[in-house]
Amino acid sequence: MSHSAPTHWNQSWRKQSWSELESSAWDVIIVGGGITGAGIFREAVNAGLRTLLVEQHDFSFGTSSRSSKLVHGGMRYLRNRQFSVTRESVHERQWLLRAAPHLVTPLSFLLPHYNHYSVSRSALHTGIIIYDVMGRIWKHRSYKPQQIANAIPFLDQHGISGAFHYYDAEVDDSRLVLRLLREGAALGGTALNYAKVERFLRTRNGTVCGVQLRDFSDMEHRHTAAVQAAVVINASGPWSDELRAILNAPARLRKQRGSHLIFPHKIIPLQQAVTLYHPEDRRAMFALPWEGVTLIGTTDIDHAADLEAAQDEPCASQEEIQYLMQAARATFPDLDLTRDDILSTFAGIRPIINTGKALPSQESRAHLVWEEEGLLTITGGKLTVFRRMAWDVLQSVRSRLNGKPPFPTRKRFFNKLPVLPADLPMSHEDWFYLAGRYGSDTPHLIAAADTPDLTQIDPLPNLWAELRWAARSEAVVHLDDLLLRRVRLGLLLPDGARGILPRIRPLVQAELEWNDARWAQEVNIYHGIWERYYSPNPIG
Ligand code: FAD
Repeated sequence: MSHSAPTHWNQSWRKQSWSELESSAWDVIIVGGGITGAGIFREAVNAGLRTLLVEQHDFSFGTSSRSSKLVHGGMRYLRNRQFSVTRESVHERQWLLRAAPHLVTPLSFLLPHYNHYSVSRSALHTGIIIYDVMGRIWKHRSYKPQQIANAIPFLDQHGISGAFHYYDAEVDDSRLVLRLLREGAALGGTALNYAKVERFLRTRNGTVCGVQLRDFSDMEHRHTAAVQAAVVINASGPWSDELRAILNAPARLRKQRGSHLIFPHKIIPLQQAVTLYHPEDRRAMFALPWEGVTLIGTTDIDHAADLEAAQDEPCASQEEIQYLMQAARATFPDLDLTRDDILSTFAGIRPIINTGKALPSQESRAHLVWEEEGLLTITGGKLTVFRRMAWDVLQSVRSRLNGKPPFPTRKRFFNKLPVLPADLPMSHEDWFYLAGRYGSDTPHLIAAADTPDLTQIDPLPNLWAELRWAARSEAVVHLDDLLLRRVRLGLLLPDGARGILPRIRPLVQAELEWNDARWAQEVNIYHGIWERYYSPNPIG
């Protein structure tokens, strides 16, 4: 299939895909539609393998829509002496800035130093230098207190001794996953959401040779398929142990929750990110401008098994919100922040390999690949290093794959951006915004739009036209898929974007083939999800 032909991931595509599952000779089945699965998918397709990715819920439903949105080496991992994690990550950051421009964008960071810090200013400076050297850039600078006051007047200035300015990068994590999946699918891969692995198929000697799937895209959940493949890869992040439990394998993960608060940009008008240390326990945290809002995070606590069992999604606890508010108020005292200023919240679970460290934040962020009864599991790691993770897992099963392809394939993980058209019906800035997020689909998204929809959804960088395109072509099954993951309006606008639903409805309802009763039902369900897991006062 050519890069320019769009695949409309709609009802008929889903039906067709399901009808072909059992009869196809798959080389690889990937379980999990987060960033880990999406990276493996793209590289397996690059190698010419017949590749199927299945996701039990929506694409990026797991941790990959709930990260801190940073493409980074992690300065704080340097403090924990995880040098190889940092080195690999900054290398991948530099690659992603080149390979996925306008999706992965440079982010200017300020790291203030206060007299009361236990870590000295020169130690911070050394860390910044190591960070830049590892990334092979030399962009950091020192700021004097007056320069800091000019740059961020509402930052706490008491006892400030100076600051360092350096660069990292940020991303819309969900769109990163979607871009890899859509472009991989256009090259022949199949990626299905709402397709859950319920058990494994085994050969006579017990080796895993396929999966039993159930279709959760309709209300009945009756449709199942037994799908065979040469290799099955478990890329299910925080659910890795649950899948391995089907094989009676012992748990290996330490599930750690991280939560964030989102504020309107006008309340915390940051133009650059700030690294801060929590006033109580001195943990490193971030405040960053993202998609027209300001994000503050994150926490790092063990996620209790009873909570996991009771909730459909993780959410920020009252204690975490208080903890994050405490850091926000201490960092920006002049803004008089209150809980009423919070626009939304979200929480994700880190799939960390358990090594028994006392504090959750001391556990290594390195990823690991291992095999049990033919099932490959890859977990741990970070969003930033998904390419390395894909190479590692595919290389480890190379001998079992059709044609024994070598990894890395050296083929592109992202298609080149489409050519900027001469007769652009929007600003250059808006076009590049779309091109980063929709890649090869961008010309089709624009062609499908009515001219008034090629304008921004005030005060965000998003365009109305994204909604119609996502509804038509991006496998949206429920309204929360559209508003929380395809276009992040549920996080970025007050009340989960309730106020603009009347404008959204005519753009998407017919595309989704929903009658009025279904629309009303979806709105109801969406509000319930938003209130419970994403509102300023989530109730879990
Ligand atoms: P997931 O994204 O969770 O995907 C696994 C998928 O598998 C899920 O969608 C799930 O529904 C699916 N699944 C599970 N069981 C089944 C089944 N039976 N059948 C089919 N599908 C199934 N990294 C960074 O690089 N930068 C950051 O700024 C950053 N910030 C973070 C902040 C927080 C709070 C957290 C928690 C993590 C952060 N990370 C960050 C780490 C990063 O987000 C994760 O490492 C990464 O998203 C994990 O991706 P994954 O694909 O392995 O897991």
